Amino acid sequence: MSTIPRSGTPATSSVFADGEISFWYQEIGLPARRPALPGVLEVDVALVVGGCTALWTAYYLKQAQPDLRIAVLEKEFAGFGASGRNGGRLSAEPPGRMRRYARTHGREAAVALQREMFSSVDEVVRVAAEEGIEADIRKDGLLHVAINAAQERRLRERLPVLRAEGWGEDDLVELDRDRLAERVRIAGARSALWSPHCARIQPAKLVRGLADAVERMGVAVHEGTEVTEIRPRRAVTTHGTVRATYVIRAWRGSPPGCAATAGSGCP
Ligand SMILES: Cc1cc2nc3c(=O)[nH]c(=O)nc-3n(C[C@H](O)[C@H](O)[C@H](O)COP(=O)(O)OP(=O)(O)OC[C@H]3O[C@@H](n4cnc5c(N)ncnc54)[C@H](O)[C@@H]3O)c2cc1C
Repeated sequence: MSTIPRSGTPATSSVFADGEISFWYQEIGLPARRPALPGVLEVDVALVVGGCTALWTAYYLKQAQPDLRIAVLEKEFAGFGASGRNGGRLSAEPPGRMRRYARTHGREAAVALQREMFSSVDEVVRVAAEEGIEADIRKDGLLHVAINAAQERRLRERLPVLRAEGWGEDDLVELDRDRLAERVRIAGARSALWSPHCARIQPAKLVRGLADAVERMGVAVHEGTEVTEIRPRRAVTTHGTVRATYVIRAWRGSPPGCAATAGSGCP
């Protein structure tokens, strides 16, 4: 059951443009704003910002412990940031090179991480189906295509590196020109690498569906609520302070639109 009723509060950002609302929302319409934080609140877990990092964290925390009191604090609306404006490629490719992870954590751990990334693609597809999230998901894999000699050489050189990083014969398949043409005909294509571990998604649909799913699980999603400061066991917002046993900085990079400078306490 939803803990927060939906409202039609107008969004601060209401324009489909770069830096404003993602073009993906043109297809599904501007999300109605959930109410902002109503004032002082006490929870077990406060998740600062409302993108996929926060929402997936909320999802699995609730799965693990359904009675946890969780609040998501988002300045605009859940999915306003990169989570609702990305390329829609749900892939198992790691950010950066695995050899860097291997250097710090050992090869075995890096390979285990890669295997987890393979299974996480199927996990997203599974959860979306289970939660009734319609996100135009289609899992057809990922192709890297070489259309000139230099690209072909790079693909060939990359293959043994990826094999050593945990990409087995079923995870990465070499395709010559003819086998590639059986899948897709691309002018000038010479060869390709194909991996089954990738799906295409409509990111705005996925992140909005996920926000709805966590709300149904009892997570409080407060939109239009800017976090201005994180203190031990406290998230200070423009609408009041949230006291929490755990305050989690739940974003991958720097949240966009955070005006305050480093060291000011702004997330
Ligand atoms: C153009 C683009 C294309 C991409 N393509 C892909 C792709 O195809 N595949 C892929 O896997 N990844 C892709 N990525 C990366 C991926 O989208 C991000 O890594 C991911 O969405 C990060 O999610 P997040 O939850 O950490 O942060 P975000 O989704 O960015 O969420 C940050 C949130 O913080 C909020 N916020 C900011 N300041 C405050 C504040 N002070 N208080 C409260 N809230 C605040 C913002 O409104 C925003 O909603 C792409 C990214 C971009 C930008």
